Amino acid sequence: MNTATATAWLRAFAAAVDEHAAALTDLDRPIGDSDHGVNLQRGVHAVLEALDAQAPATPGAVLTTAGSTLVSTVGGASGPLFGTLLRRAGKALGETEDADGPALAAALRAGLDGVVKLGGAQVGDATLVDALTPAVEALEAGRTVAEAAAAAEAGAASTEPLVARKGRASYLGERGTGHRDPGAQSVVLLVRALAAVA
Ligand code: ADP
Ligand code: MG
Repeated sequence: MNTATATAWLRAFAAAVDEHAAALTDLDRPIGDSDHGVNLQRGVHAVLEALDAQAPATPGAVLTTAGSTLVSTVGGASGPLFGTLLRRAGKALGETEDADGPALAAALRAGLDGVVKLGGAQVGDATLVDALTPAVEALEAGRTVAEAAAAAEAGAASTEPLVARKGRASYLGERGTGHRDPGAQSVVLLVRALAAVA
């Protein structure tokens, strides 16, 4: 991944969030507060503006700029979480101009570790961690980004029968089962966007 592909990744993610904002908010309706799509949309539009204004010089700088922008513009839990994912991943890439598959996998692992440290969710708690973890594991195993996106999709689907143990959905306990976690679905969009440009 070079600077152009990193930028294209975030542009593709922003387009996907725009396309699916209503669906993401619908997922947040029964188990949350109906704002996930709107939250992410606000964030990705700010990311596009930041990238246009700064044109970062390395893929790592693209990701850290995007991550910091998400943290500062999204009020919901998803802003700091997605922001931390991208910021940590960007930091892990360092000054490299072109990250290969293992470097990208390691960067996303660092991002996932940051998300887990910040939010305290483990796999099975019905959060975005359930989609992100299998995607990172697929990349670490040397599988393609498209396969990682499929792994994220399966992880997002796996949240449907679960009782959420983190985030707003956890307030519902057993009544919250039977719904896909919205943040996990956004991770699917993020990894699919990467597959589209990588
Ligand atoms: P809010 O819950 O503040 O309204 P959003 O609706 O934008 O924020 O995002 C909700 C998503 O954030 C959830 O679907 C879940 O994936 C994710 N999330 C919330 N809390 C946590 C946490 N502690 N760890 C990991 N992910 C979390
Ligand atoms: Mg919400």
